[in-house]
Amino acid sequence: MRDEFLEPILASDREVADEVGLRPRLLDDFVGQRELKEHLDIVLGAAKQRGQAADHILLAGPPGLGKTTMACIVAAEMGVALHITSGPALERAGDLAAILTKLGEGDVLFIDEIHRLSRPVEEILYPAMEDFQIDIVVGKGPAASSIRLTLPRFTLIGATTRTGMITGPLRDRFGLVARLDYYDAAELDAIVQRTSRILDVPLSDDASLHIARRSRGTPRIANRLLRRVQRSN
Ligand code: ADP
Repeated sequence: MRDEFLEPILASDREVADEVGLRPRLLDDFVGQRELKEHLDIVLGAAKQRGQAADHILLAGPPGLGKTTMACIVAAEMGVALHITSGPALERAGDLAAILTKLGEGDVLFIDEIHRLSRPVEEILYPAMEDFQIDIVVGKGPAASSIRLTLPRFTLIGATTRTGMITGPLRDRFGLVARLDYYDAAELDAIVQRTSRILDVPLSDDASLHIARRSRGTPRIANRLLRRVQRSN
């Protein structure tokens, strides 16, 4: 098998666009990760009952296992908007403040690679997560002053491939910390069959299982191999 189909596991821009249509939209359609789904079911159920945003959620695990997909599902299940950004994209505290002040009540903010947040940005995040407040500095030099802004209650979903690099204070502010595990062949087989229906690529049971077994436990790779079959048809 040519390496380009297996490496890197990170998605290219084109693949990201392709993947959008393949994402399961509801918790019930999400294959595998049973424990995480059970926990989420409880967290989301409780939030709906309170009529409030769900607790902040930290999702850890290797790339391509469904962290972004899960964030989309949480937003869809809660009936709120999803805002997506990443640790490296938030260079200055102002970048995060700009996003936070645009959130609607109950919205989900997804920060991918959250372990790569800079220190000043992370420090803005603490009061935002805990008290739904941020302090913004206006003006410069001796005339500078700080204004406190109240944010809508929102749900932060952080994703990381490196749990060890999350600082203690950040980690402690998540109500649910969960790990996504590699998928077994039966789960990947179910994902491949689902994708083959969406892409309208007829596949024998044997072929589906063959792809599942070669996907290194990773749905992104399974979908990538299936696209290869589609292109060669
Ligand atoms: P991550 O954010 O962890 O890198 P993504 O959520 O972007 O991974 O998932 C990559 C692709 O794999 C998505 O297009 C999605 O269709 C598929 N996928 C991931 N997890 C599942 C799952 N449990 N069931 C079905 N498809 C999945």
